[in-house]
Amino acid sequence: MGRNYRIGIIKGDGIGPEVVDEAIKVLDALSANMGFNLEYEEMLMGGVAVDETGVPLPDETIQGVKRCDAVLFGAIGGPKWDNLERHLRPESGLLALRKSMGTFANLRPAMVYDELVNASTLKQKVVQGVDIMVVRELTGGLYFGEPRELGVDRAYNTMVYTREEVVRIAKVAFEIAMKRDKRVCSVDKANVLEVSQFWREIVIEVAEDYPEVELTHMYVDNATMQLIREPKQFDVILTGNIFGDILSDAASMLSGSIGLLPSASTGSKVGIYEPIHGSAPDIAGQGIANPLATISSASMMLRYALGEYEAADKIDAAIKKSLAMGYRTGDLGAYDAKEICSCTEIGDIIANYVCKSGKKK
Ligand code: NAD
Repeated sequence: MGRNYRIGIIKGDGIGPEVVDEAIKVLDALSANMGFNLEYEEMLMGGVAVDETGVPLPDETIQGVKRCDAVLFGAIGGPKWDNLERHLRPESGLLALRKSMGTFANLRPAMVYDELVNASTLKQKVVQGVDIMVVRELTGGLYFGEPRELGVDRAYNTMVYTREEVVRIAKVAFEIAMKRDKRVCSVDKANVLEVSQFWREIVIEVAEDYPEVELTHMYVDNATMQLIREPKQFDVILTGNIFGDILSDAASMLSGSIGLLPSASTGSKVGIYEPIHGSAPDIAGQGIANPLATISSASMMLRYALGEYEAADKIDAAIKKSLAMGYRTGDLGAYDAKEICSCTEIGDIIANYVCKSGKKK
């Protein structure tokens, strides 16, 4: 009997179904010869859930993810649902899912493939060798703070962090740094915000347990500029929810396209593995989306949630090989491209490479 895993599949809206289908294709190709079985349970969330059930996060989905070992997620949202009340919008479903699952730590690697140094809008000498891990707090801060209100003459949100929330995310960042280059840069806005001052004080306290790790602090405005100016100065970036959201999108452009970068939302029994991009309504249904961010998220799922390290390595190697061979989706431009491929063609190529990279006895 092989190892059996139950994977929750949430395809979502826009390009979500297109890119998740390619990740499943690759997972199936792998599991067939790596000695493990994946059983999928498809669940609804986002705009498609609003259309079918009237709410963006149905109860069945909340219950369903609890039965799974991990969740692979595409993306949600789109103009069709933009004018709904906030609690009915697809994005509210995603925030509520993260909160209900307790996935407080969002890990967003931003690395530059050697094969794509010319695809970045920045100079090769600036981006070559970039390898950053953004550790973003995911279930607190401005996106969840109460009170909040949308009035006629004024509107407000609240940025709140508790000691416990900062301690646990800071520990995640320091633990990750211990396995990397042992440097953490905590990004905040402590010169203006009390909540950031509090964040900084607690991060300094947590750092005392990690004497080998060098801790620095940076204001978020400067960090954004430094990410573009000299990204190689960063190893692990530790930051709150909204700053992490923005910084990781900026970091994605170092790699050449937002369609390349995966993420893992962890910290609880079941983690969510998803590309950092959204549902890209502008290109949905055209078959041109880049599936590599989602395929790479499936690799993170194998590594972090299932402990299938060899299988994860095979996906990572297959992605690099496809890029080295010059296969690109259109978002990466024509730089060094041998062939501009569709979303499904890239999925086929990666699935083919992982199959050929040696069967496990
Ligand atoms: P987006 O990430 O969907 O798209 C930004 C740009 O990047 C677009 O031009 C898009 O075509 C391109 N792009 C994104 N992913 C791509 C891919 N895999 N391949 C090629 N090109 C890709 O961001 P947006 O336009 O600001 O948001 C669109 C919708 O997605 C909104 O409804 C937003 O709320 C939602 N959204 C969802 C998530 C999520 O589900 N986690 C995250 C961000 C935005």
